[in-house]
Amino acid sequence: MVMDKRMPLMVGNWKMNGSLSANATLVADLLQGMAGVTCRTAVCVPSLYLSQMQGLLAGSAIDLGAQDVSAHASGAYTGEVSSDMLRDFAVRYCIVGHSERRQYHGESDAMVATKVQRVLAQGMTPIVCVGETMAEREAGQTEAVVKRQLAAVIHANGHCISEIAVAYEPVWAVGTGLTASPEQAQQVHAILRAQLRAATAHADRVSILYGGSMNAANAANLLAQADVDGGLIGGASLKAPDFLSMLKTASR
Ligand code: PEP
Repeated sequence: MVMDKRMPLMVGNWKMNGSLSANATLVADLLQGMAGVTCRTAVCVPSLYLSQMQGLLAGSAIDLGAQDVSAHASGAYTGEVSSDMLRDFAVRYCIVGHSERRQYHGESDAMVATKVQRVLAQGMTPIVCVGETMAEREAGQTEAVVKRQLAAVIHANGHCISEIAVAYEPVWAVGTGLTASPEQAQQVHAILRAQLRAATAHADRVSILYGGSMNAANAANLLAQADVDGGLIGGASLKAPDFLSMLKTASR
């Protein structure tokens, strides 16, 4: 990893997987293998396990993350979890606008932008997911789609925008085994970086992660790209040897 890049950030997204015992085993295996890992590392776990994970990760080199947050501060929003609640469990990162939230829960760009505000207000780092569907890519709309998604977040968050992280996650690559080529990823990351530069003098601080079937075999080539600052990793983050291998690749 070249010295002038942002310190790589590798984030596992456990999605709706795990159990008390499986989490304990996975974390023990990860912590045992962290020697030599110098990249920033986090795992985003189901909300119900934040308490358990706060205990297991305390004092370790792995930060705690959440997968979603309510757009509301508090009140009559049954089933939702607020940003204050996340903060209570020492959550450092929160994924916002994951394609599975946009797709299955109808999250709009405006809602994502509001959620980002909530996360930033609690001093946590939102990991803002953007990405095009295969149909949008084939229609030549990739740039327009990711720019529209990020523009909503920039518009709502003004000068705080340098405090976010972005994850470029082509929808067609998430959980499918298909991966963007390193060149495809870099092309979109460069577009996002330019958009951030137009919004803030501190755009170079913003980590832009790649996500979408990243694994131990393809991580090195993706992470070698100039504007790929780390990864958001779903399936492969549930296997300790694979995730550790990727963390070590990012630490080179
Ligand atoms: C994700 O959930 O953000 C993701 C990228 O999943 P996967 O690595 O399994 O494609």
